[in-house]
Amino acid sequence: MTTTKTPQTFEYKAEMKQLLQLIIHSLYTHPEVYLRELVSNASDALNKIRYRQLTDNQILDHGKELEIRITVDAAAKTFSIEDNGIGMTFEDLTQNIGTVARSGTLEYLKKLREEKSNVSDLIGQFGVGFYSVFMVTDEVTIETRHFDLNSKGYRWTSSGESSFTIEETDRQARGTRISFKFKETAQEFADENKLRQIIRKYSNFADFPILIGKEKVNTVEALWRKSEADVKDEERNEFYKFVTNDYEDPLSFLQLSVEGAGAEFKALLFIPAKAHFDLMRVQQQKTVQLYTNKIMIMDDCKDILPEYLQFIRGIVDTSDLPLNVSREVVQASAAMNKIRTALTAKILQWLQKLATKETEKYLTFYKNFGPLVKTGINTDFANRDKLIELLRFETSTRKAGEMSSLRDYVSRMKEGQKEIYYITGETRLQVESSPNLEYFRKYELEVLLLVEPVDIFIVPSIHEYDKKALKAIDKGDIELEQAQKKDQDELSESLLALFKESLKEQVEDVRVSRRLVDSPVTLVTGSSGMDRQMERMMKMMGHEVPASKKIMELNMEHPVIQNLSRRFLANKSDDISQKCIVQLYESAQLMEGELASKADYVKRMVEIMEQATRI
Ligand code: ADP
Repeated sequence: MTTTKTPQTFEYKAEMKQLLQLIIHSLYTHPEVYLRELVSNASDALNKIRYRQLTDNQILDHGKELEIRITVDAAAKTFSIEDNGIGMTFEDLTQNIGTVARSGTLEYLKKLREEKSNVSDLIGQFGVGFYSVFMVTDEVTIETRHFDLNSKGYRWTSSGESSFTIEETDRQARGTRISFKFKETAQEFADENKLRQIIRKYSNFADFPILIGKEKVNTVEALWRKSEADVKDEERNEFYKFVTNDYEDPLSFLQLSVEGAGAEFKALLFIPAKAHFDLMRVQQQKTVQLYTNKIMIMDDCKDILPEYLQFIRGIVDTSDLPLNVSREVVQASAAMNKIRTALTAKILQWLQKLATKETEKYLTFYKNFGPLVKTGINTDFANRDKLIELLRFETSTRKAGEMSSLRDYVSRMKEGQKEIYYITGETRLQVESSPNLEYFRKYELEVLLLVEPVDIFIVPSIHEYDKKALKAIDKGDIELEQAQKKDQDELSESLLALFKESLKEQVEDVRVSRRLVDSPVTLVTGSSGMDRQMERMMKMMGHEVPASKKIMELNMEHPVIQNLSRRFLANKSDDISQKCIVQLYESAQLMEGELASKADYVKRMVEIMEQATRI
């Protein structure tokens, strides 16, 4: 596309327009974050040029001191911020500035606003931080020139409504200048002291000098290279906020200085207090910044962590990686592999320590990031055992909300108990009302309650913990030691036959139950059948799942079953018995949330009630 010296107008895409509306017309609690966003963009641009200059000297203004300059005119209420970073080409201006980079951003921000979260606080995390300037101004100008020797200068302007304009300029200097006039409601920012304060609050750790007039306002230091004891918690928290654009303090930090083990690096890592984006879409989150010898070479180095740990933030600084090779080479290098292995081990140790020493924090972490971390059990076989130790579950004998590890569970196992029991379902309430739990309740056997969707994929694959098999209690083949085996008498044999005959289309088999205490019947999975929750998950993910028939178990002690067998003795084709058999089956289905026709169920129930109430 060609550009001209007269301004050309470009329309924002529909999604961008909506986003702008959202920003301009939402109520903000912290409009000051505009400055954090602009400094952060300038600092990114400087990092990129610093890295580039190491291997390329065909660059505009090569070797010039890298810095950020802010000017403010208290009388005219104007502001500008200028960096001599990489600058922007025409394409950068139209593509990076004019569009919403990540899919789902708009929906997510709308949702946050409905929940009355502070969108302004979060805006920097969604690749649209630049637009936060519209909280403090009605019109913005960007003047920029890319580092390429043959580049042209451009001026971009927008009032943040439906369009922006671009024209060519004869800007000489490399980098970007952003300027505007503060709007009526934001005039407090036309004050050097105020700006200094904000910079110290949000951007103190920018890697480059930030100058207001001639004065440098920030502290430029590599915090991760200092010893842990020399850094105050406050400084570390500020640093965290600076690198992540998060507005809350982190939950926990880990400072590392690793030598040997084939890898050498320093790191300052954090666990955020909350997950701000859809956790499972890890590709959309920024992770760790990679530095070599104090120079940032990547601002989002996903390869340095396994996928299941990509919620970790912070900085890794190593001298093992060469600066003068491409990112692809760095990513695939043996050094990178070694760093990842060492880093993963340290992070898992950190989590384990948190779990034992700071349980509250650990549970917060577990609630927010557990679903992602657990997936490592099926992907990182080298660390599988360590990851299994990190699991926590609610159990049937503990209060709701109380979390136990497998180790806790095993330490409480009853004498003679050989297996670890679990039940899967959607909510604690639902699994607690399952008839399959009755036996375990009666004999005070603890059962893990798996109600977290990922657990259904993870736990069955564990098979064994501390030499004890993990068993789903609704499987047909579970061994229940406590229950006395009763010889089946002839009567129960013929009752079973009657049930089988009546339900031959619906169930795989009908058996005498040893797990029921209060309920008359239950449905269990055949030994080869798929776990019910798994079946549901597979269907949700669009897989064809052949309908597997369940095994029905009868509680021979239950009055209904005993009555049925008496009636059956008297009359083999008794209509009400037949209806009761189907009703019992469907009641069990209802409990599982799997009843096909409510109408049939209720109709039959009314018929049975009618017969029962006849005088
Ligand atoms: P983010 O910085 O999270 O990507 P922004 O909306 O703040 O989102 O910025 C969008 C893009 O515009 C940046 O990714 C970058 O490519 C470009 N950009 C913004 N400010 C500058 C700058 N000062 N110098 C060079 N490029 C910039």
